[in-house]
Amino acid sequence: MSLDTTTTAYAADRIFDGDRVLEGHAILVEGARIKGVVPLADLPATISLEQHPGCTLIPGLIDTHMHFMRWQGPVFLAYGVTTVRDTGNDLAWILQCRDEWSQHAWPRIVSLGPLLDGTPPAHDQVAHAIADTDGAVAAVRDTAAAGVDGIKLYASIAAEWIQPMTEASHAAGLKVSMHCLPHGVLVAGHAGIDEFYHLDGILADVWPDHPPGWLHVWGHPDFDKTWDRQQQVADTIASMDLVSTPTLAYWDSQWRIRSAAGPYAEEQLYMPADLFTWAAAKPDAELGATWQRAWEAALRFQGLLLDRDVPSLAGSDTPCGGILPGQSLWRELKMLVAAGQKPIEALRSATSAAADFLERPELGRLRQGAVADAAIVKGDPTASIPDQPEVTKTIRHGVTYAPKDLLKAAEMADPAWRHEPWGRQFKKVSDR
Ligand SMILES: [Zn+2]
Repeated sequence: MSLDTTTTAYAADRIFDGDRVLEGHAILVEGARIKGVVPLADLPATISLEQHPGCTLIPGLIDTHMHFMRWQGPVFLAYGVTTVRDTGNDLAWILQCRDEWSQHAWPRIVSLGPLLDGTPPAHDQVAHAIADTDGAVAAVRDTAAAGVDGIKLYASIAAEWIQPMTEASHAAGLKVSMHCLPHGVLVAGHAGIDEFYHLDGILADVWPDHPPGWLHVWGHPDFDKTWDRQQQVADTIASMDLVSTPTLAYWDSQWRIRSAAGPYAEEQLYMPADLFTWAAAKPDAELGATWQRAWEAALRFQGLLLDRDVPSLAGSDTPCGGILPGQSLWRELKMLVAAGQKPIEALRSATSAAADFLERPELGRLRQGAVADAAIVKGDPTASIPDQPEVTKTIRHGVTYAPKDLLKAAEMADPAWRHEPWGRQFKKVSDR
C-alpha cells in the first residue's frame, strides 16, 4: 500500500480489532481513517510508529443507551467512548449536537430523537406526547423525516399503537427500540419492535398478576419463584429476533449509591455537582437492599438471554442515576461478564455488535476503511474487564486526546448544562 508522510502507526501488546485479538500488529491511521491493520514486520522503516507496551488497542467504544448533555462529551472520550447513541432528547437540540460533534471534544452522536410517549409524557422536556393511533403514526413519520437514526418508544405508549408505529418506522428504514412497560416485551416483540431496554416489560411477562410497582417486584423476595416462567419468556424472546440492552450499570448504581458502598469518587469529581445531587439518590439501607436484589435478579435474567444467544448491547443510561459517562460503560461490560459473557464478547457488545445493529460499518472495528476511532487501555481487557479502566489515549476521527487533560477540563463543567433539555428535566424532577 502507498503510505503518505502523515500516516501514524500505533502498536500495543495486542490489538482487539472488534472481532478478535491480534499480536505483533499495528494500526495505520491516515487522517480520519484507518488505512490498515498490518504485521509489525511489514511496516516500512520510514513510518512513524507509536508503541504502547503493557497496553491493548481497542476500537473506540459505543455506548448504545445514554442521554446527551454537552459536559459529558470530554468525559466519554476520556474513557475511550467515541460514539454514543442518544436514546431520548429534545429533537432539534440533539440533531444540532449531532451536526456539531466534530467541532468539540465529543464522541460522534447517533440519535433516536425524542421519547415518543403517551399523554402526559413522563419526561416532557425530552418527549413527543401522543394522544391516539393517528398521532402515533404521525409522530414516527415526523421524527423519521427530521433525520433521526432510529425510533424510541417510551413507557406509556398504548399497546395498540406499537404495531402501526413499528410499521411506519420500518417503512422509513429505521429500527424501533422500546422501554416496554407496561405491556411486556412479548407484546412489543409480537408487534415488531427490534430492541428492548432495561429488561423493562419482563415483569408483565414473568409475573402477570404481580404486586404493584416495578422495583418492588424485581426486588421482591418471591421474584425467584417465577424462575420457570422466566426461562419460558427467555425462550420466546430468543425466538423473536430481539436485541436486549439491559443497562445493568444503572441498576448496579442504584443499590450502590443508597448503601455504604456509595458512588464512585469520579462521579462526584467529574459530574456537575447539582446534577449529581439531582440525579443520584440519598442513602437508604432498606431501599438499597431492594435495589440490590433487583439488580441480582436482572443479572440472572440477562444470563438466561445470553444462554440463548439473544444479542445484547452495552448501554449505560448516563446521566440518569448519577452515573458517569464512560466509566459506567466499562462497568456495564463487567456486568455483562457477570451475567455470562466472556470479556471479549462484552467488548464486542460495545464495538462490532453495536456497529452492526446500528448499521454503521465504519464504526466498531479496527480495519481498513473504518473511521479512526480507537482507545489505548492499560492491561488486557480481552482477558478481564478492569474495575477502573486506565485509558492512556483516545483517538476519535483521527484526532488524539489525552484522558488526563479531558478530565481536568471536565472538573470545571460549563454551568450552561442547566439550560439543556435534560438539565431542565432533572430540575423539574428535583423540584417536585
Ligand atoms: Zn434512558
